[in-house]
Amino acid sequence: MARFFLLFVSHCYCAFGLIAEYHPIETYDAIVVGAGVSGLSAANTLRNNGVKKVIVLEAGNRIGGRVWTTDTWGSNLELGASWIHGIENSPLFDVVRDMNLTIQPTIYKSGSLSTKLGSMALYDADGKPLSKEEIATLKEYAEKFEGYLDEINEKGRNHTLTYIDALNSFSAKNKFSKQMYDRLYYILRLLNTYEIAVDLQDMSVSVEELYKKTEASGTNGLIPLGYNLIPSKLAKHQSIELNCKVDKISYGDQIIECRTNKGVFKAKNCIVTVPLGVLKADAIAFSPPLPQEKLDVIEKIQVGVFDKIYLFFPKVFWDRHVEWIESIPKPDMRDQIYDIMNLAKYFKQPILLAFTAGSFAKEAEKWSDEKTVDSVMSLLKKIYGNDIPSPSSYMITRWGSDPLFYGSYSSPGLQADEETYATFAEPVMGRLFFAGEATSQTDCSTVLGAFTTGQRAANQLLTGMGIKPRIED
Ligand SMILES: Cc1cc2nc3c(=O)[nH]c(=O)nc-3n(C[C@H](O)[C@H](O)[C@H](O)COP(=O)(O)OP(=O)(O)OC[C@H]3O[C@@H](n4cnc5c(N)ncnc54)[C@H](O)[C@@H]3O)c2cc1C
Repeated sequence: MARFFLLFVSHCYCAFGLIAEYHPIETYDAIVVGAGVSGLSAANTLRNNGVKKVIVLEAGNRIGGRVWTTDTWGSNLELGASWIHGIENSPLFDVVRDMNLTIQPTIYKSGSLSTKLGSMALYDADGKPLSKEEIATLKEYAEKFEGYLDEINEKGRNHTLTYIDALNSFSAKNKFSKQMYDRLYYILRLLNTYEIAVDLQDMSVSVEELYKKTEASGTNGLIPLGYNLIPSKLAKHQSIELNCKVDKISYGDQIIECRTNKGVFKAKNCIVTVPLGVLKADAIAFSPPLPQEKLDVIEKIQVGVFDKIYLFFPKVFWDRHVEWIESIPKPDMRDQIYDIMNLAKYFKQPILLAFTAGSFAKEAEKWSDEKTVDSVMSLLKKIYGNDIPSPSSYMITRWGSDPLFYGSYSSPGLQADEETYATFAEPVMGRLFFAGEATSQTDCSTVLGAFTTGQRAANQLLTGMGIKPRIED
């Protein structure tokens, strides 16, 4: 009785103060583990199909997971996902449209070297701007390199050939000078490592083939009112238990038990949506252990690290019309690069956003805040001079070391292909389902992938319950 009372009280305070009719339930139809977009999308689909005895267990003190908007500085800034990647043929964008949310298109387009090169102010390691001719040459070779990769991939997928292998052979073929090699390395790292979140030597030349499977197309856009409006909408009318960390899932023929710091929750079905990093870290014990093929894919798919450093300045002192400000590092520092976005262009506030990715992001997560800010500032000083103002405030993310995530998003690495993702997505014993960006065969690493895999897992569960899923509205 006491436990029931506690459960009832905590439900009343959950999910941004939404008070729904929650009742303590002995056995739920479904437990959803994780209140990120995939978990909320799954719970929403179940509810829309009449399955109401559903509870979402979330270890953190907020919903949204890797979608996390803050308005600390008066603008809606994203600590996790920023972009909707493609607003056409996207079920995620349908939600945005239904909510009448405005989209702020950006120049940046996933996977396009030339678009990125055309929207940046590019400086060398001494802070000198590259000439138009130098940029044109770089663009020409970057495009040729893209063609070279296409040629390789046309011959068949080659998972183990890395970007570095391809760059080395392309460079030898074109008799590149050391400077040209370094510059192309830089630009490839800037675009690819900062999208896929792993280093070029850990990235297969066939990686883009997987991302090309997406049906979403069109502009990439930001949501000025905040990405978190999407999880908030999906969370409406859901029963969500925050600060409730699952550490063991026991599954059998009839019942699944989730052991948490708030007691044991029982259900007929369970949808696991925790990040791949959490599963890799064995933060949840499964009894019996997950099938070997599931364990193999959890090992095979990589988790990349991608972080953000927001700097708020007293005034804009930088190139105000470009979208990106970039500086090619000295060769001995070639992996220590920041991808800097000029947010003043879109938010009308003096804010710069520096991204880190791959091994550099992992390393920078160990630094103090002061060292991190100083490091970005020394780069800006090289470009704009020592008299630039210091930031009056900053925000730094460390997704790789956060125990509720252990990384920013999945990356195919050198071993995974869509089969691997498909295996990850397979249910176990018809009761234990898996969703989350890392289980998407077409949209891994994105919010879109999280959203659609939540729907997919819910539909699998509904089918198991003998309910024909109706089309999502
Ligand atoms: C810095 C950054 C930038 C990004 N940029 C973009 C972008 O521009 N566009 C884009 O489409 N995508 C982007 N992404 C990726 C995108 O945010 C994710 O793919 C997506 O949000 C993942 O959703 P999910 O539901 O799969 O997982 P999550 O959102 O991680 O949800 C999983 C939930 O499980 C919870 N959890 C963990 N352990 C437990 C446990 N033991 N018990 C209970 N709950 C637990 C977590 O707290 C979390 O809330 C970015 C990610 C990061 C980090």
